[in-house]
Amino acid sequence: MKINAVLPCAGRGERAGLGFNKTLALLGEKPVALLSAEKFAALPQVTRIVIVCGAEEKADFVRALAPLQDKTVFVTGGATRTASVAAGIAACEEDCDVIAVHDGARPYLSEQLLRRTLDVCEESGSALPVLPVTDSLREVHGEFSRAVERSAYYAVQTPQVFDARKLRLAYSRAMQDGFTFSDDAQVYERYIGRVTLCPGDPANVKLTNPADFAAERMRVGCGFDTHRLVEGRKLILGGVEVPHTKGLLGHSDADVLVHAVMDALLSAVHARDIGVLFPDTDERYKGISSMKLLAQVKALLDKKGARVVNVSAVILAQKPKLKDFMPQMCANIAAALALPEERVSVSATTTEGIGLVGREEGISARACALVLSKPSPAESI
Ligand code: MG
Repeated sequence: MKINAVLPCAGRGERAGLGFNKTLALLGEKPVALLSAEKFAALPQVTRIVIVCGAEEKADFVRALAPLQDKTVFVTGGATRTASVAAGIAACEEDCDVIAVHDGARPYLSEQLLRRTLDVCEESGSALPVLPVTDSLREVHGEFSRAVERSAYYAVQTPQVFDARKLRLAYSRAMQDGFTFSDDAQVYERYIGRVTLCPGDPANVKLTNPADFAAERMRVGCGFDTHRLVEGRKLILGGVEVPHTKGLLGHSDADVLVHAVMDALLSAVHARDIGVLFPDTDERYKGISSMKLLAQVKALLDKKGARVVNVSAVILAQKPKLKDFMPQMCANIAAALALPEERVSVSATTTEGIGLVGREEGISARACALVLSKPSPAESI
């Protein structure tokens, strides 16, 4: 049995809000379209994979699918999904027995589901993977709406697999009639006959909304800093002047907490550290409030398109007691990062008299930050 696959990748994907074709977005190291195509390429019976994309994106897709270059061909999509799939079918091998149409934005297709649809198609001429709907459903017509019986409805997935000859016939008729359909089973049913349903896979989601890409964009960063305690300096922590007999020594105001926070943020976006960004040999930073430096770090993150999710920090100090000052430290850091206060947490601990902190020679701080990085298109690899 000779199988061809058609992957429509031409959709604008505007709901994903990425600013570029979502099937070119990277999931880990690989573009979505490559992940979607790899499952087919792994089967020896699959001899050609047709990628349907916009003419202006063809070069990007050729690069993104380069690891599968022996099996892939690229065609320009049409004005509708029906026209795009018709173009894809026209580029399939003339002697293929089966055509599988699969959304380019479903990278989590399992080998098990793919084999299931191919087996069902071999027996019956078609296979349509479906899943029971889990949400309650309502039918809405303007102001009028009513509940509908959920058990009668199933959500439709891909791959939708068909006898190649019958699918070609169905699509050529649909194009002649100028009809458009939202999936291939509808085309088959309109011109050929009933499709055979089979169980889909809840993991086989179609990446659609920004949240579908969020997990891939999470970046964590850590920061650590220590400053020496000396007489004759103010003690500044989180932008708050804390009354104490000593203060921290440093080129800036030596705000050890804010320094750790800045390094955590910079680390999360792979942008070196404050020693590189604000060197202590630079007179501009002499005595400067570290809150001003934090604002510059925020501007750098903004420029990179990165958004801070939350910051968590701990101060290590034997003395003084800091608990009354911590809410103001959180508020200051949150304000500098334009975050709600609940996204910034600061705790404090002594070290039970142990080490440099315990001997009151210095104060340390550690911080972690979670950042949502800018989505990266495949062309950046
Ligand atoms: Mg420092």
